[in-house]
Amino acid sequence: MTHIHLSTWMSIAADSDFSIYNIPFGVYSDQNVQHHACSAIGDEIIDLFELAEAGLIQVDKNTLNQSTLNDFIALGKSTTNAVRLRIQQLMLASNNELQSNVVLKQKVFKKQSQIKMLMPIRVGDYTDFYSSIDHATNIGTMIRDPKNALMPNWKHLPVGYHGRASSVCVSGHSFHRPKGQQKPADSEMPVFGPTKALDIELETAFVIGKSTNMGDSVNTASADDYIFGMVLFNDWSARDIQTWEYVPLGPFLAKNFASTISPWIVTLEALEPFRTKGYVQDPKVLPYLEYSGNKNLDIHLDVYLQADKAAPHKICSSNYKYMYWTMEQQLAHHTVNGCNLNVGDLMGSGTISGPQASEYGSLMELTWRGTKPITLPDGSERKYVNDGDTIIMKGYCEKNGMRLGFGECRASVLPAN
Ligand code: CA
Repeated sequence: MTHIHLSTWMSIAADSDFSIYNIPFGVYSDQNVQHHACSAIGDEIIDLFELAEAGLIQVDKNTLNQSTLNDFIALGKSTTNAVRLRIQQLMLASNNELQSNVVLKQKVFKKQSQIKMLMPIRVGDYTDFYSSIDHATNIGTMIRDPKNALMPNWKHLPVGYHGRASSVCVSGHSFHRPKGQQKPADSEMPVFGPTKALDIELETAFVIGKSTNMGDSVNTASADDYIFGMVLFNDWSARDIQTWEYVPLGPFLAKNFASTISPWIVTLEALEPFRTKGYVQDPKVLPYLEYSGNKNLDIHLDVYLQADKAAPHKICSSNYKYMYWTMEQQLAHHTVNGCNLNVGDLMGSGTISGPQASEYGSLMELTWRGTKPITLPDGSERKYVNDGDTIIMKGYCEKNGMRLGFGECRASVLPAN
């Protein structure tokens, strides 16, 4: 188990996201490789196709030579967990199989700075929840009634909606500022143009690792069998478009133009040591949403705004542990009606805000709908995201000398075209 201190022959910075405790999964390309499954350690990637070719991991190498991880993930946790633990073993100081093989090491390891990370999964369906109580309370306070900020259903079910999978992109993919209808407060008629309120949403998302049939339901006790791992997720949102369009069916064009995920899927097994107690849920939830054990996760989250060529400036820090609803409850709710799951489906957490003003996970909250702009080090102000800005999300877990992280979830905004 990863609770034990593991020492590796690799040289890894103490603050690296990719310690021996992590061993995440992704897909990379470079001038010689179109697409290979990979893991990461320190500043390097580990080419899993090459490890399989050399007989050091026992998995069909054809599943490691594809543009996404879907077929690898579909092999099931008995295989993917064994691969992860085997890679961890190969990295141990006490193991010589790879450590002493100079020729193979040259094929297997590549500097992360020298390769390109690809979209790790083919997302069939993408769902987004709304499960942070501080976020839902802030939004309800701003747009409805501070005394009744939460809708009557909010503490009884994990509210969610079906998003658009086609525009979920991997970190590094820039996009143009979306255009759409907005209705100025002082006008009877809507206007059309680029959004003036492009926002971020600090989220994580989990990747489905096991399919179900229509009619099946996943209960909270077995939900973890269906969760392959997690990524960072930026659910870009155009607030002015959203305000005009969202009644009565919810988000549509305000959300479906772009969403960004980090390229490394950190497995649920790697995250297990960082489990923590969940929110006390009052009122009591219906029986199908009850769960036992520590099902929250202590994942520290940071968001940086980088203006043009300036240095990245931290605009908030939050933590996944502020989630009111757990992933297991979200999955039980999602499938309680018999909705089926497919490997590669993506489930967003919803914006993760904490109780402090510095812990809000969207600019709408951080600037309180633009009434308290953020001042950047160069003196310029932001109510929302400007053209040329880059948003970088990071996340890590740290406990008892173990540290692991997610890498970056980064995207830049280009002018409307
Ligand atoms: Ca969202």
